[in-house]
Amino acid sequence: MALKRRLAGALESAPPSRFALPRRHAGVLDEAGRERALAIAQAFVSAPTAPYAEDAPFELVLGLYAGREGFDVLVDEHANLIVVWAGKGASRAKSRSARRTLAFSAHLDHPGFLVEGRRGGRWIARFHGGVPAARLVGARVRFRRPGRADALATAVVDAVQPGMMCTLRDVHGKLAKGCFGVFDLADGVVAGTRLSARVCDDLLGAAAIVCVLEMLAESGHPGRVAGVFTRAEETGFVGCIGLLQARGLLSETDVVGLECSPRRATARLGRGPVVRVGDKRSVFDPSISLELAAAAESLASRAPAFRWQRALMDGGSCESTAYNLWGVRAGAACLALGNYHNCDERGGIGPERVDWNDFEGLVALLHELAQARAKDSDAAGALRERLQAGFERDADLLARSATRILDRLEG
Ligand SMILES: [Zn+2]
Repeated sequence: MALKRRLAGALESAPPSRFALPRRHAGVLDEAGRERALAIAQAFVSAPTAPYAEDAPFELVLGLYAGREGFDVLVDEHANLIVVWAGKGASRAKSRSARRTLAFSAHLDHPGFLVEGRRGGRWIARFHGGVPAARLVGARVRFRRPGRADALATAVVDAVQPGMMCTLRDVHGKLAKGCFGVFDLADGVVAGTRLSARVCDDLLGAAAIVCVLEMLAESGHPGRVAGVFTRAEETGFVGCIGLLQARGLLSETDVVGLECSPRRATARLGRGPVVRVGDKRSVFDPSISLELAAAAESLASRAPAFRWQRALMDGGSCESTAYNLWGVRAGAACLALGNYHNCDERGGIGPERVDWNDFEGLVALLHELAQARAKDSDAAGALRERLQAGFERDADLLARSATRILDRLEG
């Protein structure tokens, strides 16, 4: 009888996942690095998350770095998390840019539901994040308590009231106030080179940071590099602004904001990671954008199959806008994303999609940038020298034609 009741109450399991490395790749990570990147990405996209319920990915990062040699972990009053690779040995870096801390930043949340309670005999969950209300109707949702892996209940969104208050139907299991809900989709499925996942934005940004931190630790990287993991980005950079107001960042920090951002005609899936020069709201720090582009060119010169893109990703705005507005220099890089915020081609809710090789390329690009910083590379200086050389090449032509034009002016 007890068994029968348990079976009757058992939740249907979530759709199955499949993680496997595609055979075809750009050759920017070695086989061990690719395997590790896949394991890290899998761990992140499998961590259920929503704005104000980032407990699982937060604990994932903390579990990797708390108490680990070579790393410092800082948690601010808003539970934003900063992991600092302190750098091995005395830094020989002399230039100003090399002395600054390079930080990669990503957010740990993704649009999702928070259960408000029961009203008029119906369960109500508020949706947080940018998804049109009409798409939510009919969406299947899986609920958990923050910090708990096992699902408590599943339900379907029946209607969306003002304030993104969703009435739920077909509730199976036990809902409770304080639970959070995620779309009931597979954690991740790799098919060909494409990765479809319930959450790419921005757990793959967070996963890319961890991949880079692991590479820096492995090579005993000399420079200081930080990973910043923020909360509640989807509700208006709320965690990030809290971090900036609390002055939680190390002083003299340059940020590269990482995102999965809606694909554009100029930034497509499978064409490599994107050096993101701006978003819907603002353009980013020119010298950091220049450094990212220089790192991409240097990587491409060694790995001919590596591709990269440079684009204004104006399908959404990102934390780099907030960093720059609060006086922290920020550039950005991202993955071109399909089905942004789970909005699929059929007008409903489906998995987000990226190209796996773009992810490997992003990891390699960020690692290259960290190395360039540690080597005192000066991307702006190099570009200025190149332009100066062109000026010197044509200086005679400029002078002779100037004489003619100015003579005529006097005559
Ligand atoms: Zn995002």
